[in-house]
Amino acid sequence: MAEEAICKENISINDQWEEVCGQLKMEFGQTAFDSWLKPLSVASFDNGVMNIGAPTAFMKNWVITHYSDRIHRIWERKNPEIKKVNFVVKNISSAPDMSSNLRSGDNSLIWRIKSTPTPQKLYEVANSYNEGEALASKLNPAYTFDNFVVGKTNEFAYAAARKVAESKTIPFNPLFLYSGVGLGKTHLMHAIAQYIKKADPNRTVVYISAEQFLYKFVNALRYKDTDSFKEQFRTVDVLMIDDVQFLANKTKTQDEFFYTFNSLIESGKQIILSADKSPNDLDGIENRLKSRLNSGLVADIMPADYDLRLGILHKKAQQIGITLPDNVAEFLAQKISSSIRELEGSLKRIAAHSQLLSGHEITLDMTQDVLKDMLRSIDRKTTIDEIQKKVAEYFNISVKEMQSSRRARNVARPRQIAMYLAKQLTSRSLPEIGRKFDRDHTTVMHAVRKVEELLLEDVSMTESIEALRRALES
Ligand code: ADP
Ligand code: MG
Repeated sequence: MAEEAICKENISINDQWEEVCGQLKMEFGQTAFDSWLKPLSVASFDNGVMNIGAPTAFMKNWVITHYSDRIHRIWERKNPEIKKVNFVVKNISSAPDMSSNLRSGDNSLIWRIKSTPTPQKLYEVANSYNEGEALASKLNPAYTFDNFVVGKTNEFAYAAARKVAESKTIPFNPLFLYSGVGLGKTHLMHAIAQYIKKADPNRTVVYISAEQFLYKFVNALRYKDTDSFKEQFRTVDVLMIDDVQFLANKTKTQDEFFYTFNSLIESGKQIILSADKSPNDLDGIENRLKSRLNSGLVADIMPADYDLRLGILHKKAQQIGITLPDNVAEFLAQKISSSIRELEGSLKRIAAHSQLLSGHEITLDMTQDVLKDMLRSIDRKTTIDEIQKKVAEYFNISVKEMQSSRRARNVARPRQIAMYLAKQLTSRSLPEIGRKFDRDHTTVMHAVRKVEELLLEDVSMTESIEALRRALES
């Protein structure tokens, strides 16, 4: 019996790790996941302390600085018994399942690692990580221009990306795309790469995440092989580096990147970069590099507005092959506004649910039920208090004034906006919202309608709402 319990516990810990991994993949993207998280495994679980093994010390340290908080938090939520997550080096010889970390199907390669895990071999393996293509990260075949839904908030970035992909000459160099997470940077970069590869197979296009760039560079330094590292990058026609914010404070890698960058630009090669902030706002990036990043075209993607979110949902539903009723699409587009990735994740969950329980029609009730955890955490994120505080700050009035009976326009309008946002961003009912403003539910209803009307005719209202929404969701 006791044995059975222990067995069960082990199974559930490994299952939980799988689930944690699934979530990490969603949050950080496939490339980051493959580079840093996939090679990790559960080493032991003892007395509330979870030990996670990483294959090298370098990897362990990287994971600690970049991912440990997140891993801990996700896991803690799944299993409150976990008090602490530790990272340890679990070297290759004691970790025979390292082979599963390699995506290569080449068995001899795997055999070599198992039998002779010398540093040089590991370096070769690290460099052949991507199925034959030593340099580039994999491209997602679904990330094409055709599958990219264009709206007001991304049309400029889209146009710039298309221009770069279609031009025989170099229209601007570099193209620098930036946005918050999950808004389509990687999608656009993959689209450019796939378009060029198809249109002109002779051009060498390399797409790589900044994390991979860094990882390869650090490895090259370690194994004193920087010359061939440099050579690889300097011979490409189009170089795309995704998420360059990862190079923050990595001075050596930045230097290397700077030289690669200059030499490619000088020889007329196209560079495309992405980051989560504009070049000027990037922290920990040297000034000379910032000014280079600014020297071409900088295009941002703003958070998707409601219409775009709705458009994307319909497109993705069509791709997955499900029928999404309008009221469900509208509900999702309204509730999940921070990232397209989350929007897509929610759609996939509903689709999986309806397909698993075959014949289960997608309805609003079913959606709310399937997504209840997600919706709850969205609601938890924004409270009415917070909305009142942010809106008051934005319009330079006090929260007291907002809750007062004053009807002067400079107070009444912010109050209406706060009520509107409370309706949009939380799941509180109208009477509940009303109470927070010392009003009844009809006043809230009126406010929501008023703001909706203003949104149709007044651009500055749209801007204020979007700015506030972003501030509240960040
Ligand atoms: P980022 O790199 O900015 O974090 P991604 O490019 O990874 O974001 O996008 C996250 C997800 O959202 C991807 O699955 C992508 O296909 C999807 N997505 C983002 N914007 C759009 C869009 N305009 N049309 C269709 N899908 C989109
Ligand atoms: Mg990305």
